[in-house]
Amino acid sequence: MKTIGLIGGMSWESTIGYYREINQRVKKVLGGLHSAKIVLHSVDFDPIEKLQHSGNWAGTADILIEAAKSVESAGADFILICTNTMHKVAADIEQNINIPLLHIADATAEALVKDRIKKVGLLGTAFTMEQDFYKQRLIETYGLEVVIPNKADRQLVHNTIYNELCLGNIQDASRQEYLRIIKELTKSGAEAIILGCTEIGMLINQQHTDVPIYDTTAIHAAKAVEWAIG
Ligand code: GLU
Repeated sequence: MKTIGLIGGMSWESTIGYYREINQRVKKVLGGLHSAKIVLHSVDFDPIEKLQHSGNWAGTADILIEAAKSVESAGADFILICTNTMHKVAADIEQNINIPLLHIADATAEALVKDRIKKVGLLGTAFTMEQDFYKQRLIETYGLEVVIPNKADRQLVHNTIYNELCLGNIQDASRQEYLRIIKELTKSGAEAIILGCTEIGMLINQQHTDVPIYDTTAIHAAKAVEWAIG
């Protein structure tokens, strides 16, 4: 079994999901008392969030490169960044380590393509929904069409992530808003929805809607187990 490297803490609420999902999958595949071999570097999210919102992505990259190096030197065979947003600096991290990076957008897009989804709605932070680093990968590498909410709804989705979900605060009113936005995205032709933020699975899951849901935390974790044990 390979050792899975995780850069977590963004937020720690969602890193718990990774830890649980990865171990549950290893247990399912290998049985008994088997569990995943994991090296986790969990960062302090507060300074990173401040750097993100001030546009200092180079500053965030510096922190995550150090984290990735420590995960590599602790023996990880490959690495996951446990947040969609911070894949904005995935290339910077890759350039500074000698182990492969399992990109969250690749894992997610592969699942969509496998299910023959062509047009998908994307929910995530404003950075993930509005900038190119994530969407363009889905469009250019996988030929997917991506729709995002309108500006007011993007703000709502973004604020809910930072002001509620990252703090472990799950509100039914926010769930209803997300479900409304998911419905709007289907009106724009989305056949499925990417929960493109690793906390959204705490709020929305397949039981809440008939629209096919692709939870990036679960998909990323499942792919990590595939890499680790084949
Ligand atoms: N975990 C979130 C994501 O997947 C947001 C927190 C962050 O900005 O990293 O994008």
